[in-house]
Amino acid sequence: MSKSKENINNGSCPEYKKCGGCQLQNMTYEEQLKYKQNKVDRLLKKFRKPLPIKGMDNPYHYRNKVQAAFRTLRNGKIVSGVYQSGSHHIVSIDSCQIEDVTADKIIVAVRKLLPSFKLSAYNEDTGRGFLRHVLVKRGFATNQTMLVLVTGTPVFPSRNNFVKAICKQFPEITTVVQNVNPYRTNLVLGNNQKVLFGKGYIEDILCGCRFRISPKSFYQINPVQTEFLYNTAMDFAELKGNETVLDAYCGTGTIGIVAAKRGAGRVIGVELNPDAVKDAISNAKANNLKNIRFYKGDAGKFMESAADEKEKPDVVFMDPPRAGSDETFLNSLIKMSPKTVVYISCNPETLARDLDYLTANSDYKVQKIQPVDMFPHTAHIECVCLISRQ
Ligand code: SAH
Repeated sequence: MSKSKENINNGSCPEYKKCGGCQLQNMTYEEQLKYKQNKVDRLLKKFRKPLPIKGMDNPYHYRNKVQAAFRTLRNGKIVSGVYQSGSHHIVSIDSCQIEDVTADKIIVAVRKLLPSFKLSAYNEDTGRGFLRHVLVKRGFATNQTMLVLVTGTPVFPSRNNFVKAICKQFPEITTVVQNVNPYRTNLVLGNNQKVLFGKGYIEDILCGCRFRISPKSFYQINPVQTEFLYNTAMDFAELKGNETVLDAYCGTGTIGIVAAKRGAGRVIGVELNPDAVKDAISNAKANNLKNIRFYKGDAGKFMESAADEKEKPDVVFMDPPRAGSDETFLNSLIKMSPKTVVYISCNPETLARDLDYLTANSDYKVQKIQPVDMFPHTAHIECVCLISRQ
């Protein structure tokens, strides 16, 4: 057992209770893995006994995407950090055990720069003030770094000098984006964006493929574990070449692109978020793949019309959000009858619900379940399932 797996934690984060982000901080990492194994066993063993959970050798600072809320206090001091769980009170945080260290440093540096540029932080009560949130995304394999400044107003005094100052401190910053969010909303990002420096996106490398990440698009936040997750999904799919593969809930197309690189004959991806679809299309180009098409839309509706058009994929990868899939999707899946279904889930509860429906309404059987610890110290659990008729 590596040292880090033994016991570093035990609630060692001083903000553990207030922040609420790491629900399992009171356990050692070893205990966390046991807890997660027990949970998936309990929820899923009726379908198939889950394999042992894949944990991390070093379960710290794994998050490649970090965001902080900013606020000016009554005494004029600017604080940044996370919302206290269930409230809009900001817990001031400069570093976090699960976040990327450089990303945390950039956020602190932005905060320290604000006063010298006479820039304020947003005030939720009055709706006034400048900086609302800072979002940093990092490509762990490329070291490319994106800084997104979310502001309440489009006006950004001394914009160029501010960007110069922060980039001077952090040469790894390859792009800076201003996102304007003037609304009274819980959403971090608004609709208007302006690239202040660089290309407006970063790239990362995963499973030998290059991926573009833009401010709004989804990208797995733990790249180390994602490689294992995707490799497991590919092993389960047993691609021999020339298969038609459907990548449902495809995000920026990562799973479909890895499948295409591993020899799939033709790949179709479907995704609801238009920014992610755009990234998926450029990702396919960046990887020189011509046998892959991405569609924007609801995966269930897309499956329904694809089934009506007698589309016959050999392999369906599905990776829905926490809410899981829906009956429209699952009914069409049964109708299309692919040889292999690989279900990647970030919520074992909705996975169990969907597997219940699928196994009750077809002769598909769950063949393998591999839990993966994508989110150490939090209660979240990821699983990859192989579903087929054999
Ligand atoms: N497979 C990708 C993304 C998984 S996250 C990856 O590994 O990176 C789930 C994705 O489902 C998100 O990109 C989200 O935008 C998308 N999504 C959510 N609801 C959807 C729906 N009804 N139809 C299609 N895509 C949906």
